[in-house]
Amino acid sequence: MLKQIVLLSLSAGMLLTVHAQSAKSIITAKQVKKIEKVLSADDMQGRRTFTPGIDKASAFIEAQFKKAGLQTFNGAANYRQEFSMTQAETQSSTIVIDGKPIPDSLTAIFSYQPSVNLTEKSDVEIVKINAGDKFGPKFYEYYQSKKNLLVLVDSSFSNRLKNIQHIDKITSSPGTNTVVFVFGTKEAAAFSVECTNIISKKSLNNVVGVLPGKSKPDEYVVFSGHYDHLGVGSPAEGAPHDEKDSIYNGANDDAAGTTAVIMLARYFAKLNNNERTLVFATFVAEELGGFGSQYFSKQLAPEKVMAMFNIEMIGTESKWGTKSAYITGFEKSDMGKILQENLKGSSFNFYPDPYPEQQLFYRSDNATLARLGVPAHTISTSKMDDEKNYHTASDEIGTLDMKNMAEIIKAIALSSATIISGKDTPSRVDATQLK
Ligand SMILES: [Zn+2]
Repeated sequence: MLKQIVLLSLSAGMLLTVHAQSAKSIITAKQVKKIEKVLSADDMQGRRTFTPGIDKASAFIEAQFKKAGLQTFNGAANYRQEFSMTQAETQSSTIVIDGKPIPDSLTAIFSYQPSVNLTEKSDVEIVKINAGDKFGPKFYEYYQSKKNLLVLVDSSFSNRLKNIQHIDKITSSPGTNTVVFVFGTKEAAAFSVECTNIISKKSLNNVVGVLPGKSKPDEYVVFSGHYDHLGVGSPAEGAPHDEKDSIYNGANDDAAGTTAVIMLARYFAKLNNNERTLVFATFVAEELGGFGSQYFSKQLAPEKVMAMFNIEMIGTESKWGTKSAYITGFEKSDMGKILQENLKGSSFNFYPDPYPEQQLFYRSDNATLARLGVPAHTISTSKMDDEKNYHTASDEIGTLDMKNMAEIIKAIALSSATIISGKDTPSRVDATQLK
């Protein structure tokens, strides 16, 4: 018995060395840079969902998945996981309250009806966001309502108006109701809301590839990132050092995570020993509200997903410096502990998310699967209290550290080994405890 144990531990040790060596030769700073450079180039036009730029990014990722030798998901014809959403564009609107016309600059209308005609005699509820209320939760409650609502918002919140008017009117489940926000009006005894919208169906796609598991094909481990970003802004909104730059390249957010997914696909395909099925997913429309991951989560049984490694913004040094990253929602499953354990003896460290007040666990694509009980976490290095290029036109490849990015991707590759082999299975997230 003893001899066998010695032999077993020897071969396990040798296996780990082989992994580390092949990771070193496959996941290099040079290769990382090659991919990152293409994804964050100006000709991708900021990879905004529903633009030619994102189609170009999709085609590139598809070609990379093919080159890596991935199979398609669930026998699909290709790597594109296509779906469609409904978009509304308001053409004209007229709102009159108690005889007073309200200028467009003080209103925001959310409706997926081609034509809206509401008065105080219609089935409309009048609700208010009063001075001193918590704006965010109130806004979302009304925004997501299925009823017709006229929301009277106190003028103390007028600094929120611009953001609300910029929300893309895009949904996977268009309701028949209308929600109207009016700022700076306190009462509405008599009113009329008239509005016309152009309603259209728009198609979009995730890119998903698979390496089937050798002995546990029905148990999935997901590696993901989002490949969309914000597109092109007005030059004035660009980086102060270069006022002509209007392209939001999203090199860190999240071309970096997408690059990691491609590198991991290459690495695990080469290794060719995964016992569980590996799913490589790059999501569309994260920046519009996580629609890509929402669609993805409905294409598989969540109980089959043993773990999800979502990768977001790993291009800059973490607050602890190089060779370190953090895991969001660390305490929500024991996945982080497993990863830490697997990195023992290496020079790399994973830490719990140091910015809990920022709610990062809920702010990326992992949250959708976590709400279904999946141990789904985001791995990141972004200094959320001090990441000066975050969501600006200056998020460019020149601000990223390719060598460190390669180290992080290698750390993900190595630390996930026992989950991929089936030796470790992270505890499930208790969805009832989530927001
Ligand atoms: Zn992101």
